[in-house]
Formats: sequence, structure tokens, C-alpha cells
Amino acid sequence: MSIALGNHILVEFMNCDPHVMNDVAGIERDMVGAAQKAGATVINSTFHHFSPYGVSGVVVIQESHLAIHTWPEYGYAAVDLFTCGEMNAWISFDHLKECFGAKSYSAIEMKRGSVNLLTRNDFDISTMRQKASEWRNPEFFTRNVWFTDKDENQALSLRFTGDVFFDVQSPFQRVRILESYKYGKMLALDDMVMTTENDEFHYHEMISHPALFTLPSAKNILVIGGGDGGTVREILRHDHVEKVTMVEIDGAVIDACKEFLPNIAASFDNPKLELIVDDGIAFLKNAKPNTYDIIIVDGSDPVGPAEGLFSVEFYTNCYNALKETGILVAQGESPKFNEKAFAELNFTLQDIFGQDNAPVSLFFVPTYPTGMWSFQYGIKGELNPKTISNKSEIADFVGKKGLRYYNEDIHFASFATPNFVKELLKK
Ligand code: SAM
Repeated sequence: MSIALGNHILVEFMNCDPHVMNDVAGIERDMVGAAQKAGATVINSTFHHFSPYGVSGVVVIQESHLAIHTWPEYGYAAVDLFTCGEMNAWISFDHLKECFGAKSYSAIEMKRGSVNLLTRNDFDISTMRQKASEWRNPEFFTRNVWFTDKDENQALSLRFTGDVFFDVQSPFQRVRILESYKYGKMLALDDMVMTTENDEFHYHEMISHPALFTLPSAKNILVIGGGDGGTVREILRHDHVEKVTMVEIDGAVIDACKEFLPNIAASFDNPKLELIVDDGIAFLKNAKPNTYDIIIVDGSDPVGPAEGLFSVEFYTNCYNALKETGILVAQGESPKFNEKAFAELNFTLQDIFGQDNAPVSLFFVPTYPTGMWSFQYGIKGELNPKTISNKSEIADFVGKKGLRYYNEDIHFASFATPNFVKELLKK
């Protein structure tokens, strides 16, 4: 009987739930679980989520490896269970079949490395054993779960611990709270990074303070979206603000952030805040004219529930709901990622507010693809953030409140537009 060094089971799992086949954190958990259930010693796991869908990953075990590649669009997973020693990989097979809910499957088992065909080299095994024990601590194994947010030509990947703190498929989107090694806990909506503990202040300080220092008398402010709470937190740092109305379409986002991102969702109990769970597009359609000093649209990317937050009708309704001296600020995408949405939004604002009344502020968010992002303005009256003069008030406020991104120089610098962006925004 020929002795083989390894045993290889090649598996086809079919008719699986596409969402399960696209859940990198879930698949990593189940693959590691499959190895451990069969008594394997896990060395490390590396899993990658591809945008818009698909997962590849490997669990390296002392007994070789388990690997997977998924095609959610076919409800299909190709799995390799390669083991050596006494481990019974069929236990892993059964575990995965159940976890993936595979309605049909096929599996081929083959022996790998027949010693009859191999020549053994003589070498001092003791040195090898010594080295291995230095390398490996059975209690601890590194988990590499990578999320990749990309379009056809560029990507941003972040390494996660694999821990999932919140995972709900709401009527609007998939809402998750995960933990990345570099940026801490973060909110993902449909696999897109929305905000992280370690760089959220870049975004939330820049979406709020420039407008509030342009219109220092602002009292009544409307926020559309902003379910993580960071934008209202920053607005409510300004004592002269009397009322903030926040209209967020998805209650699951608010719940997730209240529980797992409390430093961002810090002001949801502020008495000045009226929190409404509703569609911001419908809310503006019914809003009374001439009501708000500032409207801030802190929406997600132009897909799903947020698609309408980039429409002419929506911004026309915003214009009407603003007071005569009112200012609109909108999450504006990036001149280097979603360029088309970035430019089209500005053309819409130029049409509604006037060609010279739609300035763009650029700033950096490391966890957004390209890191270069924008807020786009609609100026209804004369007050333009590019021409304010209260630098000392800004410096004083920044010092008192301990802001970490925004200051009097960044305020003006953010409105300095590179030539390629000027070209992009030429109608
Ligand atoms: N910083 C993020 C970005 O740049 O993509 C935005 C963060 S904030 C969490 C986006 C919020 O907008 C989400 O909570 C989402 O549910 C909400 N949203 C999307 N469409 C909406 C709509 N039509 N009305 C109100 N809120 C909406």
C-alpha cells in the first residue's frame, strides 16, 4: 500500500446563499472553525474580500491548509482541504457544508505525495524542530481578514481582526461594525467603509465647522443622513446652535453606532437634537421653505438609499428649505474616485445656487479610497466660506474644543482647488 504524505479533498459547494458566499468575516470564522473542529492547530488565516463581491482565503494549519474561493453570483465555493497526519478532513467538510447551507456539492479525495515516488533527503531534524517551536505559539494565531473597497482600477484594503460586533441586513443596506488593526472599530455599509474610530474626526470636523464659522449666527440646522452621529456631535460643540434636526433613513445604523462607536455617537441624547428615522429625500420634499440656516447632507455613496441624495430635485428642495442667507454642505465624493458623481454633483449645485456659489472643500480621509475626499457647498446668500475673516475666533474655538483636524489655516487651504479639479468642474 503506497504511503502518501498528504490527503487532498477537492470540494465544490453549490447553491449556497450569495450573501453567505460574500461574507468574508463569516467565511473566515467558519473555515477556522472547520479546521479546529477536526482537531487541527491553526497557524494563521488570511482572507480577502473583493469588491463588489467574492472572497478568497486560506487557513494555514500545522496539518497543511484549508483554502476557499467564492463566486457569490453563482452561489458557489471551491474549497481545498489539504491535510497530513491523522486529521480527518471530512469533519471539516461536514462543518462547512452546514455553515454554507450548500444545497448540492461534489467532493473528490486524492492522496498527495506518494512516498514511493519521492526520495528522502538526510538532514538534522533536531534543528528543524527547535526552529518550529520558536515560530509557533498554539494559543495565538494571526488572523488576516482583508476588506478591499475598489473600483475597476484602484483599491483600498484594510486588515481586520475578523471580529464582527454588529451585523444586520436592514431594509436599506447591510450594517456592520468590525475592527481593523490600524483604525480601530468601524462602520461598514454594504462593504463600504463609512467611518472609523481613528480617522472619523477628519470627516466630521470638516463637514461641520467651516459652514458654522461662515454663518456664526446659525441657530436651526438640518442634517440628512449622518447615522453614526459624528456630524451632529461636532455641530453641537457650537453653543449658539439652538436646534439640530437629523433625518437618518436607517435606525440600524444609529443602534450600531450608539452601542459600538459611542465616542462618535456621543450626542444622540442632546436635548437640542431632534432625531428622525425617515427618508431624507421625502423629508425635504415636504419641508417648509426658508426654514434652515444650514443643511448638511452626510449621506453615503450614490447607490441604494443614497442615490436620490445626488439628484437635482433633492438639491432644489434643499435650496427652498434654506433661509435667504443659508448654506448647504454635501458629502461630495472624490475627484479621484467616483469622479463622475463628484463633477455632476457640482454642476447641479452650480445650476441651483449659481456658478460662483458652489465651492468645493478637499480634505484627507485615509480609510476612503484614494484618501482624497470632498464636501461641496451651495451658498444661497452672500456668505462664502472662502472669504470669511474670523480666523481668530476659529483659532480660539479649536483650542478650547481640542479639535484635531480643522483649524483656521485648514479652513482656507481646503478651498484651494488643484488645477485638475478646476478642469473637472468646468461646465
Ligand atoms: N461618511 C460617510 C460617507 O462619506 O460615505 C457617510 C456616513 S453616514 C453613516 C451615511 C448615512 O446616510 C448612512 O447612515 C445612511 O443610512 C444614510 N442615508 C443614506 N440614504 C439616506 C436617505 N435617503 N435619507 C436619510 N439618510 C440616508
